[in-house]
Amino acid sequence: MTTVPTIGILALQGDVREHARALESAGARTVRVRRPEELERIDGLVIPGGESTTMIKLAAVFDLLEPLRKRIEGGLPAYGSCAGMIMLADRIEDGVTGQQTIGGIDMTVRRNAFGRQVDSFESPVPMPEVGGAPFHAVFIRAPWVESVGDGVQVLGRAEGGPEVDRIVAVRQGRLMATAFHPELTGDHRVHHYFADLVRRATEEE
Ligand code: GLN
Repeated sequence: MTTVPTIGILALQGDVREHARALESAGARTVRVRRPEELERIDGLVIPGGESTTMIKLAAVFDLLEPLRKRIEGGLPAYGSCAGMIMLADRIEDGVTGQQTIGGIDMTVRRNAFGRQVDSFESPVPMPEVGGAPFHAVFIRAPWVESVGDGVQVLGRAEGGPEVDRIVAVRQGRLMATAFHPELTGDHRVHHYFADLVRRATEEE
C-alpha cells in the first residue's frame, strides 16, 4: 500500500498554486498553511518562491515563525524554492537589515545573487540524485548557495547562465531547497523526489 502524504504549502505569499499542481501530480494531497494549527496536520511543507523579506514578515505577523522553526527542528520534511531556499537557510548574505529566516539547512545563501547581473535566466542543472536529463531550470532574481556545512548534500549546480558552477540545489536530511522554480516548468521530478522523501519519513514514524 502506498501512503498519500499531506503536504502543506506555506501560503502567505508567492507561487502557491503552481506548487500545489506539481505536488498533486506527484501523488500528494495538498493544503494551504496560514495558521499555526494547520502545521499539525501535515507530513511535509513546501515554501514557495516569492519575496523572502515579505514572507518572513508575514510569518511573524501570522505567529507562524516559531511554530515553523519547531516543526522543522522536530523533523518535518520541507522543500523551499527560491525565496523558500532563503527561508530555510541558517545564514544569509545580502538580506535586508535584520532579515531573519526559519533556518534548518546548514548553508549560507546569497540573496538576489544572480540578479545583480541579470533578473532572470534559464540554465541546465544536472541533478543525478533526482534522476533523468538535466533540469531546464528557470531562475528569477535567484539566490545561490555560497557555502554548505558538512552534512549538506549538493544536488545540483547551474551549468549555464551568468555564473556557472554555483550550487543551486541542496539537501540535508529531510530538508531540501532549489534556487530555481521547478513548479513553473511542468517538470515535476523535484516534487516527485520530495513527495517520496515525505512518504518515507511518514512511514518511519
Ligand atoms: N529575490 C527574492 C527574495 O529575496 C526571491 C525571488 C524568487 O523567489 N523568485 O526572496
